[in-house]
Amino acid sequence: RIPLVDERRSVASVCCYCGTGCGVQVTAEAGRVVSVVGDAHHPANFGQLCSKGRALGDTVRHDNRRVLQAMLRPARGAALQPVERELAISQVADRLAGIIERHGPDAVGFYLSGQLLTEDYAVFNKLARGLVGTNNLDTNSRLCMSSAVTGYKQTLGADAPPACYDDLDHADCVLIAGSNMAYAHPVLFRRLEAAKARRPQMRVIVIDPRRTDTAHLADLHLAIAPGSDVALFHAMLNVLIWEGWVDNDYIARHTEGFAALKARVHEFTPKAAADVCGVPADDIVQAARWFGQAGAALSLYTMGLNQSSSGTAKNVALIHLHLATGQIGKPGAGPFSLTGQPNAMGGREAGGMATLLPGHRDPANADHRAEVAALWGVAGLPVQPGLTAIELFDAAATGKVKALWIAATNPASSLPDQAKVRAALERAELVIVQEAFADIETLAFADIVLPAATWPEKDGTQTNSERRISRVRAAIAPPGDALPDWQLAAAVAQKLAARLAPTQITNFAYASPADVFAEHVATTAGRDLDYSALDYATLDQLGPQQWPFRAGQGTSRLYGDGHFPTANGRARFVDVGYQPVAEATSAHYPIHLTTGRLRDHWHTLARTGLAPALIRHVEEPVLSLHPADLARYRLAEGELARIKSRRGSLVLPVVADDQLKPGLAFLPMHWGRAFVASEGVNALTLPAFDPHSKQPELKHTAIAIAPAKLG
Ligand code: SF4
Repeated sequence: RIPLVDERRSVASVCCYCGTGCGVQVTAEAGRVVSVVGDAHHPANFGQLCSKGRALGDTVRHDNRRVLQAMLRPARGAALQPVERELAISQVADRLAGIIERHGPDAVGFYLSGQLLTEDYAVFNKLARGLVGTNNLDTNSRLCMSSAVTGYKQTLGADAPPACYDDLDHADCVLIAGSNMAYAHPVLFRRLEAAKARRPQMRVIVIDPRRTDTAHLADLHLAIAPGSDVALFHAMLNVLIWEGWVDNDYIARHTEGFAALKARVHEFTPKAAADVCGVPADDIVQAARWFGQAGAALSLYTMGLNQSSSGTAKNVALIHLHLATGQIGKPGAGPFSLTGQPNAMGGREAGGMATLLPGHRDPANADHRAEVAALWGVAGLPVQPGLTAIELFDAAATGKVKALWIAATNPASSLPDQAKVRAALERAELVIVQEAFADIETLAFADIVLPAATWPEKDGTQTNSERRISRVRAAIAPPGDALPDWQLAAAVAQKLAARLAPTQITNFAYASPADVFAEHVATTAGRDLDYSALDYATLDQLGPQQWPFRAGQGTSRLYGDGHFPTANGRARFVDVGYQPVAEATSAHYPIHLTTGRLRDHWHTLARTGLAPALIRHVEEPVLSLHPADLARYRLAEGELARIKSRRGSLVLPVVADDQLKPGLAFLPMHWGRAFVASEGVNALTLPAFDPHSKQPELKHTAIAIAPAKLG
């Protein structure tokens, strides 16, 4: 346990919101945080913070909005009762053991979070695969970056963003696709604005159905129809080929598969793509020319590409533009996915997804399973493929998965098709919720609650969008009975091992997070991300480091030598087609609904909802519609509308927004019943997902709108 800190002290740590991973300096006195400022020495932000980062101190609460004690629910329908933490830990172990003995290991599922630190992920992963014996371990990063992962792996051979933040200062053309980085990655956006002001030759192209604050920086905004990105990228490649901007020498020396793709994109003329995308053909040609003529071209992208039933194809089609022009592995160039969550990247490094093992290994590969089993000191790892997020809750809804252990995430608000998710949580025999915050909808479904520590009470590491590993340092002790997530997982694991595999009790006897980190980094040795030479002392001495970390130094850019981590060392063009959105609009559901973040809020508000300055900025959700649509549905600003999809309905106020095209609506992702008298947007969304990444299509739903008749 971290000793109680009662003297004034200041620690260097990292912001716990977006994947920018800004460094912060946290000062605490008498066990309370008294200030949070940007860390001038951290290379992600050089002292800058956005509104969320600046308000971090206001979110540190030790009152009834925190989970301060363990709790048990004596029976379904009864209230949760506070209990001793040790009793709750024993109950988790006993009840899991009973379910495993009766139904087998695959009756258990773990649902984790990109908010967790790498050390938390490492212990959970070893518990799930090495002790319980199931690959049913997934994470809310499935809703965030999994299409970026499959896109990188299919083309470049590894889950590794090749660029770095420094590239923002060197790019001549910046293509921002499906990212409102002005809100979602504000510190990076400010850096881009400053670079554009310094470099008048820089062209910024923004691809987004909405004219967002990010789009206001653009020299060219392509307000494409939702889901039409692949058609646009193919048309841009068509223009690059037709006008001779491709780098044939790079293609010949470092890639494969170009001929088939060239034949594919032949049909995607600017005119044909303009019809699909709903933007002028001349704008598509202009975007391609700026990209092709740039000395250095950088793409920045995130949820608009990823949260899609064709998310992998969208990522792949964008990466093709870089491979065809050789715009990768040099200053100012590369396809750079911006990570949504603070440690989605570190979670993947530790193998914290159903489709991964530690060190970017593959659970379907027998050699990889054997390597990890040897490193963990267990007999073997499970062969049966694990269930990903949507599949896991589907399996709980049908009774196949009996126990769900949910840590640091709120699926009863954040997963699509909420009616189905809540039915799954009700049907599960055992729901364990390991959580720090009291205002989350998922707590209502918990049978056992484990009180978790959170920022700024935890020690460990996290990895940001540019592969940079930073130390997260505790400034204060956890309140009440809360413990760091890795410690709760290890405590349950030791008791569970006593029932299932007594020889493995010592496998979870870590003395500190540094011990966990040491075990974790060993799994990266010899792998593409190798940072096996790192330890806490080295990070303390050298500061945050980018992987791979070899010969005493990190790596800012990848693939500068034209060699890729594929079987033959060549990057791959993939012959992908264009697929429209999974749910078409119709006469009954004629409006396209898209979802996204607001500047001052994070996820389902558990943390930002505690900061008065942030919640005051926007206090309730509203549906934004083009003024012509308000008139069409006989709605005035502020009036209530009933918003219906094929799965559910909401009643919310409407607001006019002329930055949307007619026929397109926007609803923020943040609110649910914990904060307002309405279900959240995921009462409407659909669970369709990309076949490769298994990432659901949160960015598009067909809806109907009508004035609400209340009472
Ligand atoms: Fe935190 Fe992201 Fe804001 Fe930086 S940009 S302060 S990491 S929310």
